[in-house]
Amino acid sequence: LFLTLEGGEGAGKSTQARLLADALREEGYEVVLTREPGGTPGAEEIRHLLLFGEADLSWRSEIMAHMSARCDHLDNLIVPALAAGKIVVCDRFHDSTLAYQGYGIGMGDAERLAFIAGLRSLVACEPALTLLLDLPRDQALDRLHARGGRTDRYEGQAEAFHRRVLDGFDTIAEKNPDRVMRLNAARTPDALSRSILEIVQNRIAQ
Ligand code: C5P
Repeated sequence: LFLTLEGGEGAGKSTQARLLADALREEGYEVVLTREPGGTPGAEEIRHLLLFGEADLSWRSEIMAHMSARCDHLDNLIVPALAAGKIVVCDRFHDSTLAYQGYGIGMGDAERLAFIAGLRSLVACEPALTLLLDLPRDQALDRLHARGGRTDRYEGQAEAFHRRVLDGFDTIAEKNPDRVMRLNAARTPDALSRSILEIVQNRIAQ
């Protein structure tokens, strides 16, 4: 079972991914907890280039670098784990590429969205369920500012960029109602993780 967590900065994805993996392990499942960009040694190197590299990449090159990292992650970790019957919990996946590179940086430009869609179909691995952690805009932007210290290439972008990313996630959720489950992330981590676990248990029981 392939599960992904998505959302803007500061929504609590990493915490929730960890809590979910812990809870599932307690129930006896074998779980691989991982993240993107990254998750394997090769993909983590590409992550470093993407987030902290000094040169500006062209938009196609940037998207392909995300996809390249994803292919390494799929080939060396995710696909073998799924084949072995494990549950994979991934902090960000393809929807982030669409939200950040397509809607955020690309401003929803049709050529970029089509480029991303084309690569997505080539890569051909879709999560069974995506948990979209959703915060009211003001709260999301407050959390982003409060994190001030972390300034990778994307986090340091202007507020308008982050609004486009969040709007992008909304669009993705609307277009994929069967896969994407939207969750109110303005709750305590505990309450949120209980409701995530319930949704995942229901999905497993299907
Ligand atoms: O989830 P995390 O905060 O670790 O993501 C690292 C950075 O990479 C964030 O700034 C996120 O916005 C950015 N990112 C991106 N495009 C992706 C995935 C992540 O810009 N496809």
